[in-house]
Amino acid sequence: MAHAIKDLFPEAKLAIGPSTDEGFYYDIDRDAPFAPEDLEKIEKRMKEIVKKNSPFVRKDISKTEAVELFKKMGENYKVELLQEIQDDTVSIYEEGGFTDLCRGPHIEKSGKVKAFKLLSIAGAYWRGNEKNKMLQRIYGTAFENKDDLNAYLNFLEEVKKRDHRKLGRELDLFSMNDEIGAGLILWHPNGAIIRKTIEDFWRNEHLKADYKILYTPHIARLDLWKTSGHVEYYSENMYSPMDIDGVDYELKPMNCPFHIAIYKSGLRSYRDLPVRYAELGTVYRYERSGVLHGLLRVRGFTQDDAHVFCREDQIEEEIQNVLNFTVFVLATFGFDNYDIYLSTRPEKFVGTPESWERATDALRLALEKRGLAYQIDEGGGAFYGPKIDIKIKDSLNRSWQCSTIQVDFNNPERFDVTYRGSDGKEHRPIMIHRALMGSLERFFGILIEHYAGAFPLWLAPVQLSVLTIAERHGDYAQEIGRALKNSDIRTEINTDNEKIGYKIREATVRKIPYLVIIGDKEVSDKMITVRKRNGENIGPFTVEQFTDIIKRAIGDRQ
Ligand code: ZN
Repeated sequence: MAHAIKDLFPEAKLAIGPSTDEGFYYDIDRDAPFAPEDLEKIEKRMKEIVKKNSPFVRKDISKTEAVELFKKMGENYKVELLQEIQDDTVSIYEEGGFTDLCRGPHIEKSGKVKAFKLLSIAGAYWRGNEKNKMLQRIYGTAFENKDDLNAYLNFLEEVKKRDHRKLGRELDLFSMNDEIGAGLILWHPNGAIIRKTIEDFWRNEHLKADYKILYTPHIARLDLWKTSGHVEYYSENMYSPMDIDGVDYELKPMNCPFHIAIYKSGLRSYRDLPVRYAELGTVYRYERSGVLHGLLRVRGFTQDDAHVFCREDQIEEEIQNVLNFTVFVLATFGFDNYDIYLSTRPEKFVGTPESWERATDALRLALEKRGLAYQIDEGGGAFYGPKIDIKIKDSLNRSWQCSTIQVDFNNPERFDVTYRGSDGKEHRPIMIHRALMGSLERFFGILIEHYAGAFPLWLAPVQLSVLTIAERHGDYAQEIGRALKNSDIRTEINTDNEKIGYKIREATVRKIPYLVIIGDKEVSDKMITVRKRNGENIGPFTVEQFTDIIKRAIGDRQ
């Protein structure tokens, strides 16, 4: 691609162009912006280069020689890169009269390229630093054959269709707005009702599993974050402190210290443990503006957080419980495929090797008892304890990091957390941090893409719409609609003076799970037929019969 670009646009300067998991890109400095038609021209030229089947020839030359060469070519970005290379010799590759600085390896001839496509153009700062010049990045992908390329292009189409930012707009779920600030989410009514449904489910299940629900503030004194170690180790993700009555306060990046404070508000004995605290806790973390992305990377978000304080002899059972709970919650949202990682002790750690071993064994045992396959990330644990990370796979088989279960030997020490043992002495409990969905914002973004906006009945913002064919059907539609609403079914009644075909189309675009269409026959028979989102008709039912069916489905979280 670089060769083709230099042929067509000799003034363009080449920066960095690596291969990636999904293909390749090249960052290019050129005053005029590349247009989509330019991509076609470049592709055409690339095909000609492939046809020539010229060999890629590697040459190892001295760094000084290379600097001279690229200076002469006017490739100042390459010269800058060369100046940072420590080695005395560097490799360059030549192909059909085109020369580039490259570590290699390369295919032997350009004719080996079989199927490729240039995908998009984006802005990218030189070396990823927003203080540097903005370059143009051209993305492409390549495969061994046309079929694989086409399968990948179809996948990209599907990804685009499911983009949660696009669906968020179309289904009026959420928005972001420069006036409010980057990375801050506004939940619109349709998104908010889904969030409330998720939160209700989450809280109820936590109460059933013997967690206590907490609420804690959004700010706390800076000193608290010094005790927790955040100021020392996490400050690049925290916002500047604010002054309140001459005391520094800080927006919370995590909930843990608050839960510890509640634990410490009373005396705890060995009989009180385990103590399980859960909170939908909103935190604020600094993210560079360049990495913010819809709901997936934000600056303010709500974690579905929990902390378990337990004795060392309870750790196996507690981790087993947490893992089973995690799998149950994820499966409820339609995720049953996971990539699981168990991260073990790094070189620098707190706590004793024996307690690390015990905790790591407990994590491993829980995974094995549950029959979950996992990979070990040797030495990948945080300094404060081992952990399990669970990546869920969505309907396009993409992986998303959501759940984490972490053992913590550090915070109980830092905050002097204790319980009174059966021996009458003070002991340190073990602390487990865990999040199932990760954050509500991110999980919502994943859900939107997983379901392509067609949420299952129990989550759908509007579960059912009653549509009238003519004005004279309005009274009966109201009657039915009211009965369904009174049964807690999120119902909408559409008696607008529009053609029924139009009303059905509009409801279909909004992906409403059930439509009840009221005409003369429905009014006279007192029966309804129901049109499902996939176009299938079911019924006829009495309103009571149908209410039962739909309520049961919602109860089963279908
Ligand atoms: Zn925590």
